[in-house]
Amino acid sequence: MSPPRKAPCPDMRRLNGGTLVIASHNEGKLREFQALLEPFGIAIRSVGEFGLAEPVETESTFVGNARIKAHFAARESHLPALSDDSGITVDALDGAPGVHTADWAATRSGRDFRQAMERVQRLLEDCNAQQPRTAQFRCTLCLAWPDGHDEIFEGVVEGQVVWPMRGDLGFGFDPVFLPEGESETFGEMDPRRKHSMSHRARAFAMLVTGCIA
Ligand code: IMP
Repeated sequence: MSPPRKAPCPDMRRLNGGTLVIASHNEGKLREFQALLEPFGIAIRSVGEFGLAEPVETESTFVGNARIKAHFAARESHLPALSDDSGITVDALDGAPGVHTADWAATRSGRDFRQAMERVQRLLEDCNAQQPRTAQFRCTLCLAWPDGHDEIFEGVVEGQVVWPMRGDLGFGFDPVFLPEGESETFGEMDPRRKHSMSHRARAFAMLVTGCIA
């Protein structure tokens, strides 16, 4: 496995059409990938269609966990697979929840992001964090092939955590994330606008340049 390269390089392995497996069970991510990949004529299947469980994310970095998910899906499906490991990093919380963003929403009856956003807000209040409460959405994409090769792309969008929550579009932490220079949170914004500037869109643009276009 090669070390991660954050920007497109001419020697990256290319995805020559065909089918791509999206290594995620997250409906929000699947919807966004579908919208992003549609213009390139790539057929998409989700890991759910192969009956694959989610592998345990044991790494402490976005890159490490993205690799676990994509390599597992590529190995099991015998097709190229794309994973996304993403989350929100809040500066006043030393980068938390970071790679644990989804875990903070875990409850006995599934994920509850309202509870996770309330936890972030409570911690920010407890430490009397100054405004603006700067934060980043981060996305690492791993495109892996069944022979073990992979390519890695990382996208970041700067912003701040706002309270109370605003908007019911999008998913996850969207209602509390106000991107830099914008007046609407990702939860209020037209999804097409979010897709033009998000951490995922930025990583995706590099993936397209390096491996698809
Ligand atoms: P994972 O990558 O599956 O470990 O989960 C990352 C978590 O980060 C998601 O479950 C969401 O809560 C959050 N997240 C990642 N990207 C976004 C986004 O675009 N909007 C809102 N929340 C996001």
